[in-house]
Amino acid sequence: MTKILKDTYGRTIDYLRISITDHCNLRCIYCVTDNISWVPHEEILRFEEIAKIVRVLVEEGIRKIRITGGEPLLRKGLPDFISQISGLKGVEDLSVTTNGVLLHRLARDLKQAGLKRINVSLDTFKPERYKTITGRDFFHQVWKGIQTAREVGLSPVKINIVAMKGYNEDEILDFVRLTLEDPYVVRFIEYMPVNEKWNDNDFLSVQKIKEVIESVYPLVPIDGTHNNGPARVFQVPGARGEIGLISPLSNHFCGTCNRIRLTADGHFRPCLFSDTEIDIKTPLRNGGDETVIKNLLFETLRLKPKQHHLQTISAPKCHRGMWSIGG
Ligand code: SAM
Repeated sequence: MTKILKDTYGRTIDYLRISITDHCNLRCIYCVTDNISWVPHEEILRFEEIAKIVRVLVEEGIRKIRITGGEPLLRKGLPDFISQISGLKGVEDLSVTTNGVLLHRLARDLKQAGLKRINVSLDTFKPERYKTITGRDFFHQVWKGIQTAREVGLSPVKINIVAMKGYNEDEILDFVRLTLEDPYVVRFIEYMPVNEKWNDNDFLSVQKIKEVIESVYPLVPIDGTHNNGPARVFQVPGARGEIGLISPLSNHFCGTCNRIRLTADGHFRPCLFSDTEIDIKTPLRNGGDETVIKNLLFETLRLKPKQHHLQTISAPKCHRGMWSIGG
């Protein structure tokens, strides 16, 4: 019988986001703080530990899995891990979120390992601006990665853009144009207050982004075709691709939240924006069996808050950075 996981508020929880490393090869202004301290190697969950946790969670009702980080493509052995997870009965959707820097090298192996689709974070088409935002000169490499992903048949390729006033708002329409001829799904995500670098002045609402797009292109709401999660999805009539708008701040989607997270250092995290965490690594390394994992999963569901309070409490909101939680 298929099991369904529910939290205290009756929400179905079927989505697990796994951060497999806290390391990243970029230093994005909105993500990484100046005083980063990496988790020591031995404190990071091993792939076999993650796979053990995932097996139990999938048996209990998790259906969708996203591999993230840090930068997940930095972790050696990722394709083998993907093939373990993609082969699990009960996993209906498996995806990876990457900055794309190493994608040109790994896209084919990931596809062969059973990955079907991929999300690539890219905030600008301008190489110089890319350097300003990410601290690194990898724009051309990322673009090559995106093209390789399409060539090997990862589909859809979603492009995630953190939209920020004064940084990339003038490129909104360039991203939209990308969807006209090619089947990209471009998703504009509101800048979220995850650390002390948060600055109210940089915030650009999804409403504003939509206005900019609609000043030039009509937008038709569609159901979307590819596991859109919290994105509201639109299309320019006749376009091959889609446009997603994600508004964690201006219009939160906590009421339909279906996710929990597993951090790279082995903690369940019920909500991205709450620092409550449940240690799973210690019990696991002390010999904890499937029942222990199951009980910690239920505890995670019990602690999942009704909603985040980003709108009501002043920033910053998380003590861990996104690179460590897994955005
Ligand atoms: N390294 C991978 C990547 O770049 O996609 C995965 C991890 S990254 C933390 C996941 C996503 O979080 C990226 O799309 C990134 O742009 C987004 N992100 C990080 N900090 C953010 C912030 N303050 N507001 C909105 N999105 C953020």
